[in-house]
Amino acid sequence: VSAPVAVIGLGAMGRALAAAFLAAGRPVTVWNRTAARADELVERGAVRAASPAEALAAAPLVVVCLLDHATMREVLAPAAAGLRGRTLVNLTNGSPAGAAEMAAWVGGHGGEYLDGGIMAVPTTVATPGAFVLYSGERRIFDAHREALAELGDARHLGEDIGLAALHDLALLGAMNLMFDGFHHAVALATSRKEGSAVGVTELLVPWLTSMLGLLPAFAAEVDAELATGEEPRLIQGLDVQFAALANIMAASREAGVSTAPLEPGLTALRALRAEGRDTWSAPASVRLLREAPPDR
Ligand code: NDP
Repeated sequence: VSAPVAVIGLGAMGRALAAAFLAAGRPVTVWNRTAARADELVERGAVRAASPAEALAAAPLVVVCLLDHATMREVLAPAAAGLRGRTLVNLTNGSPAGAAEMAAWVGGHGGEYLDGGIMAVPTTVATPGAFVLYSGERRIFDAHREALAELGDARHLGEDIGLAALHDLALLGAMNLMFDGFHHAVALATSRKEGSAVGVTELLVPWLTSMLGLLPAFAAEVDAELATGEEPRLIQGLDVQFAALANIMAASREAGVSTAPLEPGLTALRALRAEGRDTWSAPASVRLLREAPPDR
């Protein structure tokens, strides 16, 4: 029999996590503020804990998936004495600084801590393609790897506790920008009677898929430039980029569609030109973002 696990927080995601452990044949104890959310899991064999303390007492491995870090502290504080000798795996979305705070808090109560980020939605947990990012001591990850792999491919990014949240948020940020681009493309296409969202999306998906193929080469150049200061090969003329962007903006204006999603790109091109560059490269764009003062 595999080692038991406790799941605290049975929102859409927590329920999917608990269900995945149950499906893998693992004994599962669950707790949620709204107790009825556990009913279906209990029917499938989970044990309902009456309190977070009871959940902590039930298993050496405790997975927490709540609304945010503040909620996590609120839920766990009355049960903090029960953290001793336990491993808490936090799959609640949060910042790298929040992860460090949680690690210190759990450690202060004698518990071990891993931080994580779920790269899946509830319906895709434990299906091929789902993966979960982890950071924290390798030893702790290895001790629970088998259980964690039941949720999706378990990727340990490193011992720096903030790495999982950092990468989770980097991925979500890129996803958000992709959705912004999708919305803009659909707005543009549907500005004409003959255009449709489905029609432009049929073209957009293969286009973006082929463009995704460029990213590993761009990434290698960014790393090479960071390591050696070496100028990349995959450069384009800044004038060509400006001209293309100007055309997208003009077409948007003609169609009465906002150019707002395109403004950050224009700002970046202007900044590169202001540096006296006449070429665009991925490392130059990344450097601009890393050196610019963050917007507050
Ligand atoms: P839900 O809104 O479905 O669930 C929120 C959970 O937090 C519930 O268990 C809720 O309890 C609990 N909660 C909220 N406030 C309190 C409180 N004051 N005290 C006690 N419990 C509280 O969210 P999800 O399950 O979708 O998300 C949970 C985490 O998982 C988030 O960090 C999210 O970013 C992350 N995640 C979610 C994904 C998704 O697609 N859903 C994808 C990847 C990550 P109650 O049932 O009593 O309200």
